[in-house]
Amino acid sequence: MKTRRGADPRETRLRERLETIRTRSEKSSSWRASTQHLSRLVNRSGFVPIRTRLSREDLVFLAGARDEVLAFADLGMRLIDLHRPQEAGGITSDPETPLRRCRACMARWPCPTFRAVGDALDR
Ligand SMILES: [Zn+2]
Repeated sequence: MKTRRGADPRETRLRERLETIRTRSEKSSSWRASTQHLSRLVNRSGFVPIRTRLSREDLVFLAGARDEVLAFADLGMRLIDLHRPQEAGGITSDPETPLRRCRACMARWPCPTFRAVGDALDR
């Protein structure tokens, strides 16, 4: 686990928490192929009775997955609520497309935070 010298202890704690979530997720099995198959087996009641083998890592991941996904979705929404464009004013070469900057970090729009959220979701 990387800890930067002089880092804010809150940042260190958040980095450790995120690293734990990432490691736990990577160790668990992907359900992508299984769910494609299982979705064809949904019964009239709307369920698929399944028997499966889950590893210890899968169980640890599944125990927290719902809450962690909700937390990350909330995080993404809060970030894009904060990092929104505003017109920067001033003179631009193209009056049809005025220069815009992020109202939170003042970087040119789209700002690095907004792009990072987009990159993470468009993978
Ligand atoms: Zn920003």
